[in-house]
Amino acid sequence: MTGPGPVPRPVWGQREVPMRRRRIYLTTAIPYVNAEPHLGFALELVQADALARHHRLRGDEVRLLTGTDDNSLKNVLAAEAAGVATAELVKRNADRFADLQSRLDLTFDDFIRTSTDPRHEPSVDRLWRACQAAGDLYRGHYEGLYCVGCEQFYEPDELVGGLCPEHETVPERVAEENWFFRLSRYQDQVAGLITSGTLRIVPEFHAREVLAFIRGGLRDISISRSWERARGWGVPVPGDPAQVMYVWWDALGNYISALDYGTGGDAYQRWWVEADEREHVIGKGILRFHAVYWPAMLISAGEPPPTSIFVHEYLTVNGRKLSKSLGNAVDPAATAERFGADALRWWLLREVLPAADTDFTLDRLVARVDPDLANALGNLVSRTVGMVHSYRQGRVPADGPGPLAGRLRRLPAEIDAALASFDFRTAAGLVIDTVDAANRLVNETRPWELARAGRTDDLDGALAALVHTCRTVAIELSPLVPTLAARLDSQLGGRGVQLPPVKPVFHRLGPAHGGERQRPQQARGATAMPGRAQSSSGSPSKTGPEGSRLAPSPARGSVSTA
Ligand SMILES: [Zn+2]
Repeated sequence: MTGPGPVPRPVWGQREVPMRRRRIYLTTAIPYVNAEPHLGFALELVQADALARHHRLRGDEVRLLTGTDDNSLKNVLAAEAAGVATAELVKRNADRFADLQSRLDLTFDDFIRTSTDPRHEPSVDRLWRACQAAGDLYRGHYEGLYCVGCEQFYEPDELVGGLCPEHETVPERVAEENWFFRLSRYQDQVAGLITSGTLRIVPEFHAREVLAFIRGGLRDISISRSWERARGWGVPVPGDPAQVMYVWWDALGNYISALDYGTGGDAYQRWWVEADEREHVIGKGILRFHAVYWPAMLISAGEPPPTSIFVHEYLTVNGRKLSKSLGNAVDPAATAERFGADALRWWLLREVLPAADTDFTLDRLVARVDPDLANALGNLVSRTVGMVHSYRQGRVPADGPGPLAGRLRRLPAEIDAALASFDFRTAAGLVIDTVDAANRLVNETRPWELARAGRTDDLDGALAALVHTCRTVAIELSPLVPTLAARLDSQLGGRGVQLPPVKPVFHRLGPAHGGERQRPQQARGATAMPGRAQSSSGSPSKTGPEGSRLAPSPARGSVSTA
């Protein structure tokens, strides 16, 4: 394969870059921009970014897309409520989403805004016409219960006590002439994609859920609404300007708009048609759109469906779903500003459950991050580098097989397997298990006694094994906590023989996490007590001047509850 792609980082150890680079197109959902981003979407961004970084690390070609769903009626209603023009509200909030790139250390390659991106309308227009040419669009009368929050019609039996199950609001009754998509025609084909594994849905219980929905019988869906009901906001239906496209039709189209499907650009061929993986990362509330409607639309248009859909659960605060409309949002930018992007990323990847909602609190963040990153990892690295300075003038002894060699050789493949199943918790846990094993090795080999006894070869072997472990860990952490991994890399002297003086790589967040962020302590010199666990306080330093962040440092209470 040819073409531009990131150069893989050098890999220490025996693992080789796979013979063939896979080509992976990875997307997040595009959120409505009726409000600022909340932590739930940060979860999705961080998961997708960790996957993208991981694949790039392994030498795959990756393109990561995110963006915003601007054409929703709910954006229009939010703008009306705020007394501003829709375009203005949408831009203001979309900028906040785009700003998460720097705040959460994200590496998306593209950011699409569906109301302003010139690639979008030609693309969804083409998709519409392709489905029309296949005989799958027709006009009809529609009457049903519509939740604007979801931008979705509900059957009466899907409501919970008459309320939308997502928003706990009463849906409105809508009756109008609409365009319809012949979803019913694709019932067997979409079910076949899922049962054959051509379209993989992870976790597996969500695949069963989708299949049960499909087997219940797919009805044709309304895919437009009147210009009046849309308040003139949205993408016009080709050849029928009195109607605008149903926002979901247009939103799902973003995944290929961003590849210039509309103009038949090379990117579409390269990153959609010829990609090894077309992966969507989404929240569980929008599974039906991605696993049923979207594949059916693509099959109708004669285009390949996605290959994988990874479905995450929700974050809660005090047991309630995180949501602006429910009044309990957590600002991910402020949380990252306060604790560091690495701390937030680590919590999201290491702690969030794959099959149930996870409750976020600042205490849980600290309780997860400090033991892993400050204690286990921070101590391993500082005691390792400290001992190399104490006993070998900072020069790393020649690498040998070492007692942890087998574990280190297996680690990348084990992480690959975990992330192939989108299992971030296991991937992060594997790294920490390795750190724990290395800390045990220090306690068991007691290098300071080897030094005292003059057992040079044994001491060199232990130190080399520890440095090698720390370097492997730094590489495997780089998709998860990239800034910390870069700090580890420089603390470990890259691949060089000479290590720089010991500096704490990660400062504890707690216990006083409500207090002012402290400056990092002075670097600890080589006089640090070898082999002894060190503690430090404060929080990680940031690159760049303090004032370069948009928002002031948030006061206590970046988590607000209803
Ligand atoms: Zn709803």
